[in-house]
Amino acid sequence: MTQRAHRFDVIVIGAGGAGLMAARYAAQNPNVRVAVISKLYPTRSHTGAAQGGVGAALGNVSEDHPEWHAFDTIKGGDYLTDQDVAESFAVEVIEAVYELEHMGLPFSRTPEGKIAQRKFGGHTREFGKSAVERACYAADRTGHMILQTLYQQSIKDQVAFFDEFHVLDLIMVDGSCRGVVAYELATGELHTFHAKATIVASGGNGRIFKVTSNAHALTGDLMSIAYRRGIPIEDPEFYQFHPTGLYKLGVLLTEGARGEGGILRNGEGERFMERYAPTIKDLAPRDMVSRAMYLEIRDGRGAGPDKDYIHLDLTHIDAHIIEERLPDITEFARIYLGVDPIKELVPIQPTAHYAMGGIPTTIDTNVISDGNDTIVSGLYAAGEVACASLHGANRLGTNSLGDLIVFGRRAGINAARWAADEPFGDLPKDAQDASRELLSGLRSGSRKERVAHIRRDLQDSMQDNASVFRTQTLLDTQVGILAELKERAKGIGVEDTGVQYNTELMEAVELGFLLDNAEQLVHGALNRQESRGAHSREDFKERDDTQWLKHTLIYRDGDGVRIEYKPVTLGKYEPKPRTY
Ligand SMILES: Cc1cc2nc3c(=O)[nH]c(=O)nc-3n(C[C@H](O)[C@H](O)[C@H](O)COP(=O)(O)OP(=O)(O)OC[C@H]3O[C@@H](n4cnc5c(N)ncnc54)[C@H](O)[C@@H]3O)c2cc1C
Repeated sequence: MTQRAHRFDVIVIGAGGAGLMAARYAAQNPNVRVAVISKLYPTRSHTGAAQGGVGAALGNVSEDHPEWHAFDTIKGGDYLTDQDVAESFAVEVIEAVYELEHMGLPFSRTPEGKIAQRKFGGHTREFGKSAVERACYAADRTGHMILQTLYQQSIKDQVAFFDEFHVLDLIMVDGSCRGVVAYELATGELHTFHAKATIVASGGNGRIFKVTSNAHALTGDLMSIAYRRGIPIEDPEFYQFHPTGLYKLGVLLTEGARGEGGILRNGEGERFMERYAPTIKDLAPRDMVSRAMYLEIRDGRGAGPDKDYIHLDLTHIDAHIIEERLPDITEFARIYLGVDPIKELVPIQPTAHYAMGGIPTTIDTNVISDGNDTIVSGLYAAGEVACASLHGANRLGTNSLGDLIVFGRRAGINAARWAADEPFGDLPKDAQDASRELLSGLRSGSRKERVAHIRRDLQDSMQDNASVFRTQTLLDTQVGILAELKERAKGIGVEDTGVQYNTELMEAVELGFLLDNAEQLVHGALNRQESRGAHSREDFKERDDTQWLKHTLIYRDGDGVRIEYKPVTLGKYEPKPRTY
C-alpha cells in the first residue's frame, strides 16, 4: 500500500454547511493553506437535504429581535442550552445570513424584495406570545442553496478538496491534534494529513435508528473517533425525533409545511395539538409534538388500518402556495406514498433527525476534553457533530443551519488565526498504525457475520428501546443488546478483497462507528433520571433541575464508559416550566 503524506495549515473534515463555511473563512487568511477532506462529494453532504429555512431575527415580515430568538432557543432547549452561546448566536446569525445573501444565495423574496421569512416551531414574538416569521428560506431547498453557494465560493477561494476520502483517525500527540489519517476510496490507500489545526465538521449520526430522515453516510464517524481517542461526548442522550417523516420511510417533510399553515390531525380528524400546546399548537417544539403524536397513537387515536400514524393536513392551503413554497416535499409525498398533499392527508410518523449532543466545544469552537473546559490544542469542531450547547435538550427548527453558518465561520476564523502563528508539531512515525490495524482486522475477519445484519439489528433495537419514550428496563435491555452486537461485530469479515472503491470495507468501518454512537446515547439516557427536552423517561417524568441541570460528558473507559458532568452556563432566563 503506497503511503501518501500531505501538509496543510488547516484541514477541515466534512464538506457540509459547517465544513465549507469553516474552509471559506479560514481561506480568507492569506497566511494559511486550507484543505477539506470529505467522504462524499461535497454537494452530496446532508446539508443539501435541508428544507425549511435558517432562523434569524431579520424582522422582514413582522417585528423581531435577537433577544426573542435567544430566549426561544433557551426555552426550546429546556434550559440545558448555554445561555451565553444562545445570546451571541442570535445576534451573529443575522450577519451570517446577510453574508450568504451577498455570496449569491437565491433566497425566496417578500413582495418588497427582502429575504422572505416564515413561521417555524418554537419561534415566537415577545417571549412566547405567538408564532413569528423568523425562518429565512429558499422555497423548501434552503440547504441545497447554502451548500451550492458555499461550494462555489470555496473553489474560488482556492481551498483544496480531497473528495471521497474517509477519515479513520485523529493524530493525537500529548493531548493536541496534529492532523488525520484518511482512506482514499478510489485507490484503497491510506493518507496522512499533517496539520496545525483540524476542524471537525462531519455531521450527525441518525443512522443508529431505523426510521430516520438522515442520509446513509450519517454514521457519526468522528463522534466515535474522538471518543476512541479520549475525548468525551457531550449530551448524547438528547436525540431529536422530527414529527413529520413520511410514514414508515422517515423521509422528511419540513416543519415549514406547518409554518405555512399545515395542521396535524389524529385518526378522528381532530387537531390534537390544541390540547397539548394551546398557544402555538402545531408549531410547538419538536420534542413536544413527537411525544403528543405517540400518545395519540398509544391511546388508539392513530390513523390508518392499524391506527399507527398521524395525518399532516395541507388541503386547506392554496395550491399555488404549496407548489411555490413547498415544491420538494409535495413531490416526495407524491412519489413515495402516492399521496397528493394538495388534495389528500399525508400519513406521517416521527423520524430520527438530529443529534443535539456531540464533541464538546467552547463558545469559540475549540474542542474541550473535560468539564473544566480544558482545550485540546489544534482541534476545533462545528456543525451537527459538535456541541457548543446551543440546542440544549432540544433544537428548534432552523437553528441547525444557523449553527452551521455561525459556528462554521467561527471555527474557520479561529483555526486560521491560530495556525498562522504556530509551527507544525512533529508527526509520530506510527500515525497510520491504528488505521492499518483496523482495516486489516476487518479484511481478515472470520466472515461469520454480515455488516448489514448487525446494522439492521442495531437500528431496530435502538428504535424500540431508546427513541421517543425511554425507561430503565428498555435502556437496560438495550445495553445488553449493544454488548452482544459489539461481540458479533468482531466476527465480521469483508468479502470484497479489492482495493478500488471498496465500499463494503467502509461500511464495516462505519458500523463500528455507529455502535459507539449508540453506546454513548444509551448510557447517557440510562444515567439521566429525569425528563428534559427530547429525553423522555416514563419512569422519571419530570424535569429535575436540582439534580440534572448539568451536561453529560461520556468517556470511553476500557470496555465500558465513564460519566462526568459540566455545568450549564445560565444567564438572565431562569429555568421555568415549559408551556406553549
Ligand atoms: C432532511 C433534512 C432536512 C433538514 N432541514 C433543516 C432545515 O430546514 N433547517 C435547519 O436548520 N436544519 C435542517 N436540518 C438539519 C441540518 O440540515 C443538519 O444538521 C446540517 O445540515 C448538518 O450539517 P453539517 O455541516 O454539520 O454536516 P453534513 O452536511 O451532514 O456534512 C457532513 C460532512 O462530513 C463528511 N464526513 C462525515 N464523516 C466523514 C469521515 N469519516 N471522513 C471524511 N468526511 C466525513 C461528509 O462527507 C460530509 O461532507 C435538516 C436535516 C435533514 C436530514
